[in-house]
Amino acid sequence: MTLLTPDHLRVKEEARAFAAAHIIPRAAEHDRSGEFHPWLLEAASASRIFSMAVPRELGGLDYDALTQALVLEEWGYACAGMGTTLAASVLAQDSVLVAGTEEQKRRFFEPILAGGIGAFGLTEPNAGSDAGSGKSTAIKDGDDYILNGSKCWITNGGFASVFVIYALTDPAKGMKGLSAFIVEKGRPGFTIGTVDHKLGIRSSNTVELLFKDVRIPAANLLGKEGEGMKIAMKTLDMARPAIAALSVGLAQRALDACVEHLHHRYPDPRRQPGQNLQFKLADMRIEIEAARQLLHHTMLLRDAGAPYSVESAMAKTNCADVAMRVTSQAVQLMGSYGYTSELSKYMRDAKIMQIYEGTNQIQRLVISRAVLAPAPAAAQKGGH
Ligand SMILES: Cc1cc2nc3c(=O)[nH]c(=O)nc-3n(C[C@H](O)[C@H](O)[C@H](O)COP(=O)(O)OP(=O)(O)OC[C@H]3O[C@@H](n4cnc5c(N)ncnc54)[C@H](O)[C@@H]3O)c2cc1C
Repeated sequence: MTLLTPDHLRVKEEARAFAAAHIIPRAAEHDRSGEFHPWLLEAASASRIFSMAVPRELGGLDYDALTQALVLEEWGYACAGMGTTLAASVLAQDSVLVAGTEEQKRRFFEPILAGGIGAFGLTEPNAGSDAGSGKSTAIKDGDDYILNGSKCWITNGGFASVFVIYALTDPAKGMKGLSAFIVEKGRPGFTIGTVDHKLGIRSSNTVELLFKDVRIPAANLLGKEGEGMKIAMKTLDMARPAIAALSVGLAQRALDACVEHLHHRYPDPRRQPGQNLQFKLADMRIEIEAARQLLHHTMLLRDAGAPYSVESAMAKTNCADVAMRVTSQAVQLMGSYGYTSELSKYMRDAKIMQIYEGTNQIQRLVISRAVLAPAPAAAQKGGH
């Protein structure tokens, strides 16, 4: 098990206390209503947790990657939907950390520091896994770009103060013509659509973004024209472990709920249905702990400045798959009670972990390419 420092443990405890006081009591209500509500941002404002990735010199909490993962595990435990709100805001900030100038960072982070959230818009109706085939354009016009097109399934979009939007500055070049922009809420021509239904993470806000001749100053371009795909890929490397952390928290919650139910259902341990069930609980525990350790290892690599791109993909894939298996197993072990109670939320919430921020199939493509890459002279088999 990762040996956490006193600072890590303190932040983890604070996140757990916040989740217990604010998130857990309202998670089921928001799952039923399918609505995000900004009370979450108000409740979180005192702790400034939405600035956890913002550098200290810009006024943020500046948590290292492992600390961010510990916080997100607690939020995932409490409610994966509200955890997604936090993770998606950090995802948008990561693009600015990757490619923003100091002036752009100050401007982008200002609303976050004031208690707002960010949103990241890459996906389009025909450009999900194949992010480079998007159709939205941002065409230069004097000192501005004119943005046209749409983005779909964008987390936080209805409540975000500030967005990072990817659009083609040179459509003829395809993905090599993709660029990234800061887009502030409320620009004329920028409207928000809806998403009618979600299987899980129903307390998070997911919307469509629509752009009709939206004027954006050239000062909002992140990096250079044509660097959008590179910025998006680096951003997602940084951000995918957040999904791993939510997944670990979610899986742990399902296991804890399952154990609590079994104690209640079989107060006399002699009447528990035998080793088959107990071994399943043991397997769930093993899977969760192994997933958590892969995540922590990935975060320690990032904090040490070492390459972590493949580990990021492995952590996301493994933790999301574990969340799906464990939550499904928990429902199975609880029988019809699991299927019909609010506990089925965990299984519904788990499915998206395998889909957003790059599906698990796409992560397996990345990982298999690394496995098959020619080994350097001093072969490094097995990651040693
Ligand atoms: C609740 C929710 C929140 C989201 N939040 C955001 C957000 O904040 N910002 C944002 O930009 N996007 C967001 N998304 C979009 C999400 O990231 C994409 O849906 C995801 O990347 C998959 O794209 P797709 O749905 O177009 O699936 P597709 O790309 O159409 O894939 C469909 C299936 O085919 C498989 N597949 C596709 N290509 C390959 C391949 N080459 N090899 C093997 N299998 C393949 C996929 O794995 C998947 O199983 C969100 C989506 C949801 C549902």
